Amino acid sequence: MTERTRPSGVAIGQERPGPASGRVLASVQDLRIHFRTKAGLVHAVDGVSFDILDGEALGLVGETGCGKTVTARSFLRLVPMPPGVHAGGRVLFHGRSGEEAVDVMTAPEARLRDIRGNRIAMIFQDPGKALNPALPIGDQIAEVLYAHRTDEVLRRAGVDPTDGSVAGHLLRRMANQRTRHVETLALRSPGVRAGARRVRAVVEEWVIASLAETRIADPRKIMKSYPHELSGGMKQRVMIAQALACDPELLIADEPTTALDVTIQARILDLIRELQARHRSAVLYISHDLSVVKRVCDRVAVMYAGRIVETRDSEDLFRAPLHPYTRGLLAATPSHREERVRLAAIDGTVPELIDPPPACRFHPRCPHAAEVCTVIDPPLRTPHAEEGEVACFLYQTPDEVGVEPEQMPTLERTR
Ligand code: SF4
Repeated sequence: MTERTRPSGVAIGQERPGPASGRVLASVQDLRIHFRTKAGLVHAVDGVSFDILDGEALGLVGETGCGKTVTARSFLRLVPMPPGVHAGGRVLFHGRSGEEAVDVMTAPEARLRDIRGNRIAMIFQDPGKALNPALPIGDQIAEVLYAHRTDEVLRRAGVDPTDGSVAGHLLRRMANQRTRHVETLALRSPGVRAGARRVRAVVEEWVIASLAETRIADPRKIMKSYPHELSGGMKQRVMIAQALACDPELLIADEPTTALDVTIQARILDLIRELQARHRSAVLYISHDLSVVKRVCDRVAVMYAGRIVETRDSEDLFRAPLHPYTRGLLAATPSHREERVRLAAIDGTVPELIDPPPACRFHPRCPHAAEVCTVIDPPLRTPHAEEGEVACFLYQTPDEVGVEPEQMPTLERTR
């Protein structure tokens, strides 16, 4: 096992840690995902690196098209390839169990199946599209239990998971890969019928408990409903129940409230936060909405044009943003506390990722850009007297960069 200690110096061990233990649960290292298009190669994610600590809520924010969803989907290897191209880098899942980290980008399918939906789960942006319209809700939640919790289902049903008899084999098939055919066969076989009924009852109770956790009204009835019979908020609760059914170590929430009414958004966010604390999962929130991130995240990583430009504690970032892009984003966010004022806008437009600007990708829009910004790519560094990381020459000295002082940007100098 590779022992990792970051940033609080606690080593990964065997026991289940509490929130904010400082252990790295997953890390993205120099990830590059490109897309082949007729117009050329789109550099959607281009050298992204960050860690997710066990038990924390990390927000990944940025404008539409900056690469945050592609980064998030890479945790489950859900980016279709082609047209996607894995041009480099790793997505390492260290997990809590102490085994060697798995690189999700290159892991064999069988290893990935053990992680996907089980140890890393995802809540998708639009629950209406993510749920199968042809299956009752209960069956859709039960699927993850059948796929990932076969032994536990059998044990709870009083069946020995190692039973090699024909009856044991049939029950195992039923608990692992339920099809109507296998279930009917099990329920009609005299020596298996009682066990099959218990397996079905265990799964049903598990599904009901998962739905009840989301405080959805009447989980027994919801279990038998189809997605089209539910409101948007209810469907999102179902998705949360499905994602948390296997008690994942990492939950990825991709714009979980974007498709919902404003009145429902806050309730869903509070619910995710509450369930995160109860399950002690880490959460990666993807959002373009800074108010959402401020409400729920411990740390924030800001993305711009396929790269991370700033990673800080949420409180620090919202109190004193460092990167000029983050400052621009915050200045452009309306506040309910202030009188009506004209919102600041960031000059220019988001660059095309087919041909992104050289060196600092923000330089054509940055009010402080200087000569060095157009020729050298600023690396992510911990700024002096601050925590976190920022990719901007404003927080480095000319000596560190190896250029003359007049080539460096300063906060006082704007163009
Ligand atoms: Fe980029 Fe330079 Fe502006 Fe920093 S000061 S964001 S390095 S252009």
